Amino acid sequence: MPILPATEANFDAEVPIIVIGAGACGLVAALAATSDGGEVVVLERDPVPQGSTALSSGLIPAAGTKAQEAQGLIDSADQMAADIINKAHRENDPAMVAALCHQSAVSIDWLNDAHGLNLSVIDSFLYPGHSAYRMHGTPSKTGQELIGALSSRAEALEISVITDAQVTDLFAGPGSEIKGVRFHRPDNSEETLGCKAIILACNGYGGNPEMVAELIPDMKDALYFGHAGNQGEAIAWGRELGAGMTDLGGYQGHGSVAHPHGILVSWALMMEGGIQVNRDALRFSNEHDGYSEQARRVLIQPGGIAWNIYDQRLHEFAQNFDDYKQAEAAGAIRKASSVGDLAEICGLPGDALEETLGDVNTLSLTGDQDKFGRTFAKNCLAAPYYAVKVTGALFHTQGGLNVDERARVLKSDGIPFPNLFAGGGAARGLSGPSDWGYLSGNGLLTAVTLGHIAGSQAASLVKNEFLP
Ligand SMILES: Cc1cc2nc3c(=O)[nH]c(=O)nc-3n(C[C@H](O)[C@H](O)[C@H](O)COP(=O)(O)OP(=O)(O)OC[C@H]3O[C@@H](n4cnc5c(N)ncnc54)[C@H](O)[C@@H]3O)c2cc1C
Repeated sequence: MPILPATEANFDAEVPIIVIGAGACGLVAALAATSDGGEVVVLERDPVPQGSTALSSGLIPAAGTKAQEAQGLIDSADQMAADIINKAHRENDPAMVAALCHQSAVSIDWLNDAHGLNLSVIDSFLYPGHSAYRMHGTPSKTGQELIGALSSRAEALEISVITDAQVTDLFAGPGSEIKGVRFHRPDNSEETLGCKAIILACNGYGGNPEMVAELIPDMKDALYFGHAGNQGEAIAWGRELGAGMTDLGGYQGHGSVAHPHGILVSWALMMEGGIQVNRDALRFSNEHDGYSEQARRVLIQPGGIAWNIYDQRLHEFAQNFDDYKQAEAAGAIRKASSVGDLAEICGLPGDALEETLGDVNTLSLTGDQDKFGRTFAKNCLAAPYYAVKVTGALFHTQGGLNVDERARVLKSDGIPFPNLFAGGGAARGLSGPSDWGYLSGNGLLTAVTLGHIAGSQAASLVKNEFLP
């Protein structure tokens, strides 16, 4: 039973605040709680904090930051909220979207000013659906560097991060107050820890095939590209506790993972003029709708694969992306001197490929919209051509526990639990119920902003400053 009665607990130790999970959400929450005077223990199942955060590109969207201002970029929280709401066709919670967009600059400025993260904005490439440059990253723009920087700050502030500690159970008292947790060690021993407040930062259920089959049947056979330790405990606990949960079928997919190499190939190639064709050399979608919904579209093509087709200009542009260079080094990128050559090395029907590329170049010249709704900039694709075989993958789930603007987990009747907070992939995201609502950055946006809010709120609660 993941939820146990608190009367059964005789805790080995007590701490004011427990954070479960040491990804971006958990570490940001721990930094915030500590800054606000709360004592925290972070429990992390892995030997080293990594999570999906380390696998990500580490790019956090935010509007109205000092970093944007320094780079001369104009943006606003309202504009950012409109982008997120539009992408999800208003099927997300507009009040939460607005609250987190307004929080975004506060959190990024705080990570830079108080914690020296040195986050700056990518201003060479506009992510699909973004109306302004607002993706903030550490200097190398990698999730590995982001998690490293957050871990270093936690260490510098002497925050206790206990690794190899997988939380299996919560202890709940009357009124569903969480009194503590039980966690398991790799040698199968178990320990208990009591608390006054608890923050669930253990992400979603992408690493749990049974839950994926139950909640996102379309993706049950898809490659999972996120962290294996995301097993859905927050949802299992929420179900037992009677928490409200929404958009459980929401997720971020990606339609461009090199196959069989398993390396992400940046969607920037599509945004800057590349196309995807299937095994019959036919385009099948508007590639500019977004990379998330493209996962399912690729998976339903013959063989579950597509070919990204582009040219020398885009190949040179892609050198800006580490993943692309890795894909190249792994031999995933193929080069051809003519359309015929391209058809041969990819095993595609030559006549159909000739026609598809001809149609795309005509659209580039006329500026007309194609049958999928895409228009092309005036850059015809020209020899030499490049191609990479890709498949669709599940990156991370977006549904989860309902939380309010203070990151408090809500019961199914909308009343907050007394001392339970959640953020990141454990909480309901901002992407609506499916795959098409994910706007680039929605993942780390909720990890960082809700983590920041949850940490501060938990600190206030344990200091009795919390106003119910
Ligand atoms: C390839 C890839 C690229 C991405 N790129 C971006 C991007 O550029 N921008 C963006 O916004 N989003 C991106 N995302 C999504 C982003 O990575 C996630 O949304 C974000 O990292 C979630 O943060 P988190 O802290 O909630 O979860 P995580 O970083 O996954 O951290 C959760 C932690 O909890 C631990 N844990 C789980 N269960 C337990 C338990 N029972 N007990 C103890 N510990 C537990 C896990 O081991 C893990 O360390 C990407 C995702 C992938 C897979």
